Amino acid sequence: MEATQKQKVSMVSLGCPKNLVDAEVMLGILARQEYEITTDEKEADVIIVNTCSFIKEAKQESIDAILDLAERKHDSRCHTLIVSGCLPQRYQEELAKELPEVDIFIGTGDYPRIAEILAEKTGTSGQLRYIGDPDFIYDETLPRLNSSPSWFSYLKIGEGCSNCCSYCIIPQLRGAYRSRPLEALVAEAEMLALRGVKELNIISQDITRYGSDLEESSTLETLLQRLAAIDGIKWIRLLYAYPDGISDSLIELIRDEPKICKYLDIPLQHISDPVLGRMKRRSNEQQIRELIAKLRREIPTIALRTSLIVGFPGETVEDFSALMQFVEQSRFDRLGVFCYSREEGTPAASMPDQVSERVKRERYRKLMRAQARLSFRRNRDLIGTTEQVIVEGYSEETELLLKGRSSRQAPDIDGQVYINAGIADVGEIVTLKITDSSDYDLIGEIVD
Ligand code: SF4
Repeated sequence: MEATQKQKVSMVSLGCPKNLVDAEVMLGILARQEYEITTDEKEADVIIVNTCSFIKEAKQESIDAILDLAERKHDSRCHTLIVSGCLPQRYQEELAKELPEVDIFIGTGDYPRIAEILAEKTGTSGQLRYIGDPDFIYDETLPRLNSSPSWFSYLKIGEGCSNCCSYCIIPQLRGAYRSRPLEALVAEAEMLALRGVKELNIISQDITRYGSDLEESSTLETLLQRLAAIDGIKWIRLLYAYPDGISDSLIELIRDEPKICKYLDIPLQHISDPVLGRMKRRSNEQQIRELIAKLRREIPTIALRTSLIVGFPGETVEDFSALMQFVEQSRFDRLGVFCYSREEGTPAASMPDQVSERVKRERYRKLMRAQARLSFRRNRDLIGTTEQVIVEGYSEETELLLKGRSSRQAPDIDGQVYINAGIADVGEIVTLKITDSSDYDLIGEIVD
């Protein structure tokens, strides 16, 4: 008798790495339930689009992907299109009406039921919706299929956010902040290390809140020390640290623990006090400047990344000049700039003095131009120095160049290093002498 053919599932995950981890858990659950995972959506029976709805651009990208992949129901073998994540969590009624081609909507609290939901769908017609409270957080007992290259992985240490910034919809889509138990995180990291992961990227909406809802001994510092003790883990990178949660003990640990990358992503959003106040951020200009000075003093080689919002309601010409000046003075190694997106359901959406799209774009361009110049100079200053670099394969342009990332470059968002002399295996960490640079990338040769 012929064996039953496995159903094939393909997934596209949009938005941030936190969303990617959810996608990887869904894939792990499906793989455990006899589904075959494919990266080719043309051969998939089931396609899942894991969406983001943080800001306008992210929503548009999600809708475009859904419409594009809905075509596979006509020209390929796909019979079930699933939309999961933040977009249906936020707009289930509207999406159900506007997107009849979608078979199943799954919210952020229901994705661990993916296999069960697919089984329920079999033999039924019409659209199904599973949008409950956004209160789920995965644990190490759920299978997770790491979709990143084998040498790195994200480790999501908490879910949700309790910070209530006035422009942000995330707390409504992901619930209040909750930490994963420390032992569960160590167990997952050990498992990842056994599978060959060398670099752990620590994520959650705000990593500095880690442990605030757990027993006293579970702090971010303790967690990082335990992770650093795992054999096989070579780099630990800290992403998304809310400024007022960066304690002196955390700074000392970053400085003193060799496995923790000298890198910190601190989303600051603005520098002008009136804007920070309306944003409901807890840090003011003076505290932010002091924090940056302290980080640079304690860890002179640290690479700092931040993200900023331009065009927040009421942002005056003076507020924006203060922001420009701050960027010039702070010389961030990496900078992400977003135009303020007016999100219904957030306090900022109904604030007076909304800034026009034209002004937002203009301010965005000005900041990005300044950052390109600053980044070029910072990269140029690295010429002649050595960096630890993880080799990631051949460059897209030519097989004569290897590419990699230094310990001061996060995956997917920061620049790259190109290696034009020396050989190394993919996933290997090598010492590289930097010989040249561009706005965002570095070039160098292996010296060990
Ligand atoms: S810290 Fe603020 S911006 Fe970040 S997810 Fe929480 S509410 Fe949103």
